[in-house]
Amino acid sequence: MAARLLDGVEVADAVRRDMAPRVTRFAAQVGRPPGLGIVLVGQHPASELYVRSKLKSAGETGLRADLERLPETASLAELLALVERLNASDVHDGILVQSPLPASMPSDAERRVFDAVSPEKDVDGLHPVNVGKLVQHRADLVACTPSGVVELLRRSGVPIVGRHAVVIGRSDIVGKPMALLLLHEHATVTVCHSKTTDLARIAREGDILVTALGRPAFVTPAFVKPGATVIDVGTTHVTDRAVIEGLFPVGSKRFEAFLRRGSLVLGDVHPAVAEVASALSPVPGGVGPLTIAMLLRNTVVAAERRRGLLP
Ligand code: NAP
Repeated sequence: MAARLLDGVEVADAVRRDMAPRVTRFAAQVGRPPGLGIVLVGQHPASELYVRSKLKSAGETGLRADLERLPETASLAELLALVERLNASDVHDGILVQSPLPASMPSDAERRVFDAVSPEKDVDGLHPVNVGKLVQHRADLVACTPSGVVELLRRSGVPIVGRHAVVIGRSDIVGKPMALLLLHEHATVTVCHSKTTDLARIAREGDILVTALGRPAFVTPAFVKPGATVIDVGTTHVTDRAVIEGLFPVGSKRFEAFLRRGSLVLGDVHPAVAEVASALSPVPGGVGPLTIAMLLRNTVVAAERRRGLLP
């Protein structure tokens, strides 16, 4: 039987609807909407797309969102100066620096930029202060993608307490905060990575399996316990026709979409997993929309916190 699809678009809409009265109340009390500053360095095509979605969604939710662009050739010092300006801005409650940064920047640039964002405005939840608070289960600004996964599970009625959750991936942005959030939700959590031995066997123990590898269709039915809930975080732009042909029958909707666009965004989860899992978040339309909704929620929380409107 095919798995129930966990609809990220619907859940993201619900998160934004819940936020509407808070945005209205903030604007009435402060005299301006909550404000988000998005920094984009260079012209990375996928980043352009993500930033456009974030700006559109922020506007639709009643937030102020400003795009601050720097050229591909900008120096790290220029980028840090822009972050400082946004830190000092009264109308910006949240700051997001879109990654990846240009390859010409120093290898530790991303870390230094995330560290430079004021913790109170860190709507990405990546500042060490907020990561430390997450470890202690007292953070209100948490990385958007993993907090979106928890929101998707909760609002889709997937039980977490006492379940065995397996997370594949241990990045600072997805895997580690994901594991901590599931732990705080009282799951028993296993974290896997590229050095894990017998990965499929361990993954198969998960009642909830979260895949955040960035390897298209890597997670086959052999990784999935029958009846498990599978959350596919991975997103990879695939342009290789042979890969697409191997996954989707010629003439299928996804194959036709590939022919039209010349590329397809694929998750980490193989399409055949839908026959084994009981619930599955699709790519696209699963975790992605939630990531944006959680960014907007973090911006509202940061705004309320700055103005003393949060308990
Ligand atoms: P990342 O920093 O590259 O981390 C990937 C993780 O996967 C690493 O921990 C790596 O292990 C592990 N891994 C890679 N190959 C593996 C293998 N063969 N077996 C087991 N583990 C393996 O990526 P990320 O930033 O966490 O992102 C992960 C994916 O999520 C990407 O596709 C990204 O595009 C996507 N993403 C989506 C959203 C969204 O909004 N939908 C948001 C963020 C990220 P090691 O640590 O041992 O190297």
